[in-house]
Amino acid sequence: MSSLSVITPFDVETIRQDFPALHQMVHGKPLVYFDNAATSQKPSLVIDRIRKYYERDNSNIHRGVHYLSQQATEMYEEARKKIQTLINARQSYEVLFTKGTTEGINLIAYSFGQKWIKPGDEIIVSALEHHSNIVPWQMMCERTGAQLRVIPMNDAAELDMEAYAGLLNERTRLVATVWISNALGTINPVAEMIRMAHERNIPVMLDGAQALPHMQVDVQALDVDFLTFSGHKMFGPTGIGVLYGKEKWLEEMPPFMGGGDMIEKVSFEKTTYNELPHKFEAGTPHIEGGIGLGAAVDYIQSIGYEAIGKWEADLLQYGTEQLLTHFDDIRIVGTAAHKASVISFLVGDIHPYDTGTILDQLGIAVRTGHHCTQPIMTRLGIPGTVRASFAFYNTREEIDRMISGIRQVKKMFKS
Ligand code: PLP
Repeated sequence: MSSLSVITPFDVETIRQDFPALHQMVHGKPLVYFDNAATSQKPSLVIDRIRKYYERDNSNIHRGVHYLSQQATEMYEEARKKIQTLINARQSYEVLFTKGTTEGINLIAYSFGQKWIKPGDEIIVSALEHHSNIVPWQMMCERTGAQLRVIPMNDAAELDMEAYAGLLNERTRLVATVWISNALGTINPVAEMIRMAHERNIPVMLDGAQALPHMQVDVQALDVDFLTFSGHKMFGPTGIGVLYGKEKWLEEMPPFMGGGDMIEKVSFEKTTYNELPHKFEAGTPHIEGGIGLGAAVDYIQSIGYEAIGKWEADLLQYGTEQLLTHFDDIRIVGTAAHKASVISFLVGDIHPYDTGTILDQLGIAVRTGHHCTQPIMTRLGIPGTVRASFAFYNTREEIDRMISGIRQVKKMFKS
């Protein structure tokens, strides 16, 4: 039995009723969904709002005088305002809709790079990045002649802040770092990192893909310059995400893509661009995605980040304790002092893929592999991990099911 007290900040069983996908059988067993860092399940509120959009409000936005177009435009722009409120952006036009975190980072790498990066300049990323916060910068470096610098980490997967201080210099043009590691759960000390960069007038971009599902974000309090995140990881639809940028940067940056909606005036000789946020939103956007993300924001706020944080901290502690209590050959990979509800682990010498495959047969969805973070795995000298990532709709009972699943894995592999 666990020594932990049971925390019931909200009624998890009632919350689970809001998520239809959680109530299904997989391989004849009730589903345990522990792959939330890859994508989260969606509440009925989000599904219903998208359905309603297509049944009633479907129309292209921003250009129509007719009723449906105005309705759809209003709903889409209302969603932008909801996100503005959620992250406490100063202006709604500092909230740009993108396809997701990946597109947001590519937009900055292209646009910021084109405007301000020259040969010999440096961009700092961390050892904990997802590939989507490495590759766009490498591509930018190839285009501009800039160099990538990497903040190293220790064996617990915490960033070396002294090394970071040493990397900041007069050639640094931007710090682009992950806030919470999707692979290992480390929460980076981003407030401190931003403060240190700003002392040298260096702007900072945060990859917030794993932050928004778990914690309150206040871009003004952090004074962060750019923040990217994805709708599908925060209980909203796929194919929609957000890039927040301070007005002073976005105003100066050239557009990323050209096309409809991002223009003010077009002739064959010259085109002038639309104002923010439209300058960065070429073409027909993911209208129902934006509206669905607005509904996801409503849903998150109806529960509240404080309750979410408490519940998930309990799951993290309980899960870690149960794994270490029940098995003497479990290795938890990533033991940072500050972690989100992600547990990456290895069972003896059993390959993560084998563990994941057997757990799947028992209805338990975990992710296995390098989690799009190959440099982390290389640094730790492992091929990958098994990753259980929890959302607020997960329970201790589900963790117990994973523990008995791992027992079966060990039996099969005689580990
Ligand atoms: N950054 C982090 C930390 C992530 O976890 C992910 C997705 O797993 C991404 C970036 C990329 O997000 P997306 O695929 O939604 O663009």
